[in-house]
Amino acid sequence: MPKYQHQELKIYNSLSGEKETFQPVTPGMVGMYVCGPTVYNKVHLGNCRTFISFDLVFRYLKHLDYKVRYVRNITDAGHLENDAEEGEDRIAKKARLESLEPMEIVQKYTVDFHTILHTFNNFPPSIEPTATGHIVEQIEIVKSIIDQGLAYVSNGSVYFDVLKYNETEKYGILSGRKVEELIANTRDLTGQTEKKNPQDFALWKKAEPQHIMRWPSPWGIGFPGWHLECTAMSTKYLGDEFDIHGGGMDLKFPHHECEIAQGKAATGKDPVNYWMHANMLTLNGKKMAKSTGNNILPEEIFTGNNPNLSKAYSPAVARFFMLQAHYRSVLDFSDEALQAAEKGFHRLMEAFQTIDSLPTSNSSSFDVEELEQKCFDAMNDDFNSPILIAHLFDATKLINSVKAEKASLTQSDAKKLKQFMSEFIFDVLGIHENLSFSNTDNSDETKLSGLVEMLIELRTKARENKDFDTSDQIRDQLLDMGIELKDTKGKTEFKIK
Ligand code: AMP
Ligand code: ZN
Repeated sequence: MPKYQHQELKIYNSLSGEKETFQPVTPGMVGMYVCGPTVYNKVHLGNCRTFISFDLVFRYLKHLDYKVRYVRNITDAGHLENDAEEGEDRIAKKARLESLEPMEIVQKYTVDFHTILHTFNNFPPSIEPTATGHIVEQIEIVKSIIDQGLAYVSNGSVYFDVLKYNETEKYGILSGRKVEELIANTRDLTGQTEKKNPQDFALWKKAEPQHIMRWPSPWGIGFPGWHLECTAMSTKYLGDEFDIHGGGMDLKFPHHECEIAQGKAATGKDPVNYWMHANMLTLNGKKMAKSTGNNILPEEIFTGNNPNLSKAYSPAVARFFMLQAHYRSVLDFSDEALQAAEKGFHRLMEAFQTIDSLPTSNSSSFDVEELEQKCFDAMNDDFNSPILIAHLFDATKLINSVKAEKASLTQSDAKKLKQFMSEFIFDVLGIHENLSFSNTDNSDETKLSGLVEMLIELRTKARENKDFDTSDQIRDQLLDMGIELKDTKGKTEFKIK
């Protein structure tokens, strides 16, 4: 019997503001859509936190034996600089700055995104569609919204008519914003004169001659609005009404609010049953963001190469650090917190590895099944990973007390304990001790400097051992090859001549 029949999963639905018992549209199957990255820059640790949060959701749903179709898009067009209707396309701008084709930018940062998420042991989604691969679908949705009288064409662009929609539906149900307030708060930005009302949003934008990412449409040459791509790709692969839609908290408004309005306007159905929002990772109390530079890159964690860090940390430790907070809580990044996570993680792994060698007896002084159910209960309560980890630490304490012969465990309970701990640590939390960062920079330059650093280390050791023959030999032979070593302030640096 599938596990979900024994467990009652509750999910906090951002739409109702309550934890609701999860019931998928089709029993046994789950459709989940998560907004993917805009691939114009390296992903920072904040982005990773959101994708790790949803990887946890994906993993737990699978662990409950649901058949999950997880769709996560790649935004490779249509996301303008300021999230509003103005500015350059983020990808086109980066292409201009790096003198590359927009699709080279897309490829470069998609590869970076995949590499990093793989390093963190995230599962790939079941389908990973791109916005540029779904222009036709987006145009079809615009057509049906126009047919419903809820969008209008203006100067080659198409806008969603928020006030018209609000006559019969409620715009703002997700974010709790009221249309009247939106009207009062909207500044009169240039370019908004095409719109009937400033709070209307673009479904399709006319491409100015300098806009390089452009496609033909019934309304002229243009490009799709950012909100529209997620409506097109989620409904194409999951249907007009699907189970879970996730994304970072910062996408609630306007992005997800617009998705609800677009879906309802196009099909008459509320597209999503459970809206999930993952909270932000902060640095020095402020949101990590690409635009402000207040962020840490994953590779900086893995190499320790950042002023905020005292040392390097493995991807497993960084993942464990993030999962020690609930996905709906803000998490502040700090070196101390990572150090604490590292200690805790090692304690947990050490205990887990000793289960096989524990002394066994003919009775157990604690109930392993009860402990296992507590782990399920934690995850059933809106994917509460910190509580799950607390129970795993309780198990660690019990293991250590059996080891010290202060508690007892039967052989079959030891087996059960190992089984469920392994499922929760490796399958559900997705943590693996041997998760280490493989440097993706494979250039000869990197290899050469790695080699020289290694020789410098050997030379330092030789000098410490007063083996000056060897240390001089290393220095002189390197010099013959055109590599000069310089000893300054107790450190050795090298220069390739
Ligand atoms: P973007 O590529 O900017 O659209 O961001 C990709 C995902 O990362 C979105 O779901 C954002 O909500 C999320 N995100 C951005 N900044 C942070 C942060 N500081 N902490 C957690 N998630 C974030
Ligand atoms: Zn989206």
